[in-house]
Amino acid sequence: MERAKLRLGALLLPTLLGLGCSDAPPPLRVVLITLDTTRLDRLGCYGYPEGTSPRIDELAADSVLFERHYAQAPLTLPSHASILTGLDPVHHGIHENGPTRLDGRAHTLPEILGQHGYRTSAIISAGVLHPLFGLDQGFELYSWESGASNVNVRSDAADATRRAIDWLRAHRDEPRVFQWVHYFDPHGPYEDEQPEGFGSVYDARVAFADEHVGALLDHLKEEGLYDDALIVLTADHGQSLGEHGYDGHIISLYQQTLHAPLLIKLPRNELAGARVESVTRSVDLLPTILAFAGIDAPPTDGLDLRGRMEGGDPGDPLEAYGETVLGVGEHRFVKRSLVYDGWKLISKPALDPSVDMTALLEERRAELKATMPPAHWEPVEPVVAYTIAFERHARELYDLTADPQETTNLYFERPDVAREMEARLATFELWPEGRSLGVPVDSEELDPVLKALGY
Ligand SMILES: [Zn+2]
Repeated sequence: MERAKLRLGALLLPTLLGLGCSDAPPPLRVVLITLDTTRLDRLGCYGYPEGTSPRIDELAADSVLFERHYAQAPLTLPSHASILTGLDPVHHGIHENGPTRLDGRAHTLPEILGQHGYRTSAIISAGVLHPLFGLDQGFELYSWESGASNVNVRSDAADATRRAIDWLRAHRDEPRVFQWVHYFDPHGPYEDEQPEGFGSVYDARVAFADEHVGALLDHLKEEGLYDDALIVLTADHGQSLGEHGYDGHIISLYQQTLHAPLLIKLPRNELAGARVESVTRSVDLLPTILAFAGIDAPPTDGLDLRGRMEGGDPGDPLEAYGETVLGVGEHRFVKRSLVYDGWKLISKPALDPSVDMTALLEERRAELKATMPPAHWEPVEPVVAYTIAFERHARELYDLTADPQETTNLYFERPDVAREMEARLATFELWPEGRSLGVPVDSEELDPVLKALGY
């Protein structure tokens, strides 16, 4: 009911504002592109030489490029929740894909824009962002299923761009438009696929997404909408691709998963070619987009980045929080990270050195088998095995300037820095139950959805 009420508000408010207010903010078309699982160092504009991203590189030439941008989680749902609410996961309360949804009390970017007369749409490419998980709130259109996505839990970039263009065409004459387009192609699995002209399937998938991001940009140019548009392109997280002994993304807080691309193309391509060297975060996108739209932002964990884009004094360095959830059952725990002033701390509960790892793994396997259908359990098993073996060391500290690959753990060598980083990380406290915006998904609703998605 809460969401229905907000939608109604979105329809009524513009009319009221139009009647009573002469200094309404100027109209703006905003396109937010999120590339799932996309590492910035696999994009040409961030220095990759393999030709994976010619179209994104063109956009980068018209944009401000952010060199030290961080996602708040290496997981699709929590990371996008931070983008759309401006809140760290400790506050929006979505810590994992699946069990929790964003409650209707959240103030999301499309809701706020809708209250100021924006027409809004989301074009989604994976079931993990199903409307059941609450990111649909505030969107007039939340397009998540198309073609084969019901079976494959995903749709490809060509399909996403087609759906995005259909909606843009239908709203061609609307002065205020916000569209979020989510591309899922670089996400695994990659087995049984040829890389087709690239050195890896991953690179080929990035290139495929790039081609269809390009088609979306071409459409905006053909319609004469590109020059005045605000276009934001980022990723929800990266992919480890074998670094730190890991292929995936969900349990890593290393740079490969959290250091994300961010391009912001301003209206009339202002500040094109500028680069922001200071740390920025996904939570900054909501206040920044609202600032460009001339709309006051609600309190968030983020900041308006316009001053940094204009090259002003960035002031105190920003703290970029990250987290992910590991393990299962009673051994479920949260791993957290903080980037601040050139340092990165990764922190998690220590495993007792006396724990019998083999026995623990067997116990976990038995628990998984007892609680999950085989189709779900089999993909999870390697993660469980890896988590238990990998997570023995509890604290890591890296000097990101001297050691951007995070190879030398300085936690014990630099106790002064470690203590300061731990004190800073400790300030990122969970909102208590009742205030947290993450609420359990109703399993009666979830089960048929998972069945339809093939689980
Ligand atoms: Zn993702």
